Amino acid sequence: MTPVADECVWTIIVAAGSGSRFGGPKQFVPLGERRVLDWSRDTAALVSDGVVVVLPAQYAQSEGGVSGGTTRSESVRNGLAAVPAEATIICVHDAARPFASKHLFTEVVAHVVAGADGAIPALPVVDTIKQVDDRNEVVATPDRSRLVAVQTPQAFRADILRRAHAGGADGTDDSALVEAVGGKVVVVTGEVMNRKLTTPEDVEWARVTVQSEI
Ligand code: C5P
Repeated sequence: MTPVADECVWTIIVAAGSGSRFGGPKQFVPLGERRVLDWSRDTAALVSDGVVVVLPAQYAQSEGGVSGGTTRSESVRNGLAAVPAEATIICVHDAARPFASKHLFTEVVAHVVAGADGAIPALPVVDTIKQVDDRNEVVATPDRSRLVAVQTPQAFRADILRRAHAGGADGTDDSALVEAVGGKVVVVTGEVMNRKLTTPEDVEWARVTVQSEI
């Protein structure tokens, strides 16, 4: 049951990555009593009318999900195909971020309810960021005060998210595709704990974090 009146909220959790930087599929690694994937699936279920999980093809059936594609965006499109037409707001979340809170899902959805086409969590950047060319020479130093590091869950009006994906575009997040079709995307405050598990060190951090909270 969604807590949002007059809206039908669905969440797509993308978990079809190969985990090449981790050295294998990390979505099934145990984190406390649950696997990495289960953390965000359980949280998303608290705030959504339905959840679609996108997985590597060999796991899709046994996990009750759909098969992913070769890129993240393709995986999102496979998830979108399984979201019913009555969904009015669609969240997209990376399974690699198991500690996104229920509050964060609620926040991004609330900003879409309030009128944004999309809402994304982000934190200020603490490092200076350089743009480099293919020879690793610095070509620009963007103003750090205008940069943020973006997370998921990202929430969107369903029709604009579907339109953004209709052309088969690729991006490292869904907001980029919605921005490209002229959508207004707002930023909400992200969470330090909502770290993306990419390397074995990240997964070790997550294990220690869960143990210290038990
Ligand atoms: O590739 P990246 O590290 O940005 O992956 C973010 C999320 O997208 C992960 O949860 C990963 O499992 C998922 N993904 C996917 N299908 C792909 C590539 C990544 O579902 N082909």
